[in-house]
Amino acid sequence: MANISGPVCRNCRREGVKLFLKGTRCMTEKCAIERRSYPPGQHGQSRRSRVTEYNTQLREKQKLRRMYGVLERQFRGMFKRAERQSGVTGENLLSLLERRLDNVVYRLGFAFSRKQARQVVNHGHILVNGRKTDIPSYTVLEDDVIEVRPRSRELVAIQSSLATADGKDVVNWLDIDRNAFKGQVRALPSKEDIEVPVHEQIVVELYSR
Ligand code: SF4
Repeated sequence: MANISGPVCRNCRREGVKLFLKGTRCMTEKCAIERRSYPPGQHGQSRRSRVTEYNTQLREKQKLRRMYGVLERQFRGMFKRAERQSGVTGENLLSLLERRLDNVVYRLGFAFSRKQARQVVNHGHILVNGRKTDIPSYTVLEDDVIEVRPRSRELVAIQSSLATADGKDVVNWLDIDRNAFKGQVRALPSKEDIEVPVHEQIVVELYSR
């Protein structure tokens, strides 16, 4: 499985923003960016990187890529796919990222983080429209039903994640029935439905250089 490895909190500190890569820890005072809000590394506190147009574009792209846990090659492929679609490329890209199955599993509360959601999908715990789907990059479609496989419903990781998510709102474009371990795509997400601290148009500018 392609995955981004290494100490994930460094990614947040590098980008200077919370990317919510560690689940519940991100909401606590243990969050690394709350304690050390400067870039990682020996010279993190003293070094200032030059603000160039390219640097700004690169940082925006890295933020988006790291948040969704997508490797560079996959990300570029998604950008090309977004370009081929009608509409605004940046918004298409956001929508494609948001519709990844691992992200949907995370949004539905079946996992604490996208990284854990990727594992849950990879290990075959998720059904899409009744069929086992173990590809984290699968792009969900309108009306797709995403559920935890019946024999995986007792898993502690899934149970505790659902218990934490209980009572919290799910994103607008998904419906959830937590008692049935099931969610459905109500409508494809629009830009307004996707709250990420990224200017997607700047990412488009990077790839258009
Ligand atoms: Fe980022 Fe979460 Fe680590 Fe905080 S705890 S730095 S939000 S991954």
